[in-house]
Amino acid sequence: MKVHEYQAKEFLRKYGIPTPNGKVTDQISEVKSIADELGGKVVVKAQVLAGGRGKAGGVKLAKSSDEAVEVAKNILGKKLYTHQTGPEGVEVKKILIEEAANIEKEFYVGIVLDRAAEKYIFMVSPFGGMEIEEVAKEHPDALFKVYVDYLELFPFQARQLAFNLGLTGDAFKQAVKLFLKLFKLHVELDASLTEINPLILTKEGNIIALDAKINFDDNALYRHKDIAELKDDSEEDKLEVEAHKYNLNYVKLEGSVGCMVNGAGLAMATMDIIKYYGGMPANFLDVGGGASVETVRNAFKILLEDKNVKVVLINIFGGIVRCDRIAEGVVKAASEVGVDRPVVIRLVGTNQEEGREILKNAPFKFYTFETMSEAAEKAVELSKGGN
Ligand code: ADP
Ligand code: MG
Repeated sequence: MKVHEYQAKEFLRKYGIPTPNGKVTDQISEVKSIADELGGKVVVKAQVLAGGRGKAGGVKLAKSSDEAVEVAKNILGKKLYTHQTGPEGVEVKKILIEEAANIEKEFYVGIVLDRAAEKYIFMVSPFGGMEIEEVAKEHPDALFKVYVDYLELFPFQARQLAFNLGLTGDAFKQAVKLFLKLFKLHVELDASLTEINPLILTKEGNIIALDAKINFDDNALYRHKDIAELKDDSEEDKLEVEAHKYNLNYVKLEGSVGCMVNGAGLAMATMDIIKYYGGMPANFLDVGGGASVETVRNAFKILLEDKNVKVVLINIFGGIVRCDRIAEGVVKAASEVGVDRPVVIRLVGTNQEEGREILKNAPFKFYTFETMSEAAEKAVELSKGGN
């Protein structure tokens, strides 16, 4: 789960990490007084979950509170198009107005889990402000990594990080303290990514977090009710949000064969076999082991809402779930939603005869098969315009 910059900065402050003073608003009428309070010279920052706001014109400096109002008018309520939003863009509903810092140097700081190494990895680079992917590609030698074996960063590791940024004196000490606090935050809040890009050295010699990005591990949100409440779905894929509400494991993909499968393993195998026959799955969808009529209906609706889907492939192995129930759900859903695309069904297992009977008597033409490969082959053919 992602949170906005202003929210991430509140977490940083709770952990004693310095950030510029600032205030968030959704009202142009408040901009002038906020900017005056902050001393006039401010930066207006679009609060959207997508990255790359600076390059897209979502971060602008204003030298006076009047200029801040002008700048804010061009950002608040407007659409922002960053490399992450794609051509649809995203509407800016809130802006953060922040003291403008006197930047001497910008650094990159990030903490993630390295699954292969089974350790946390704390990365820093003197190329701040750039996207980490770009740094990794263009200046791989300038990315310094510390692997953390425990749930704690040791002071010597924090010193290595600060040293590799070329910091000295008081700034070095500030950075060491900041890294220790940041790692503590990452572990205690169950973050999956904590990134400060840029962390800066000011002309006055202070180390502060100018940007902040924290992604939280969804599977740990039950431990952090306060964080879970910050969830903002407005920038997520609409179908994924809807599927989540129905407790469906759904991931949208780019292909044209919509899949409905019970069990994650079978869902993976179904995607593989679609590819094997030369097609492309439109999604991953696991309706779960104990799928009810209701679940199937919701899943069916979601599949058909995706306009890229040319054919629906239902692949059910009836173990705990009964095939007649699935068939019932499919027929119900089809009558409710209206099927304007071909539906291929492979149904085997408990009550398979009853299930097939229901499908046969339904007022729809379903393509039913007993084996997975026959069904997949047919679905791929139909997805390419065959019949
Ligand atoms: P994004 O990563 O989405 O582009 P950032 O918050 O990193 O947004 O801002 C982009 C750039 O704008 C920073 O690299 C920094 O140079 C500048 N910037 C951001 N906030 C401030 C601030 N408070 N004072 C001065 N410059 C800022
Ligand atoms: Mg940034």
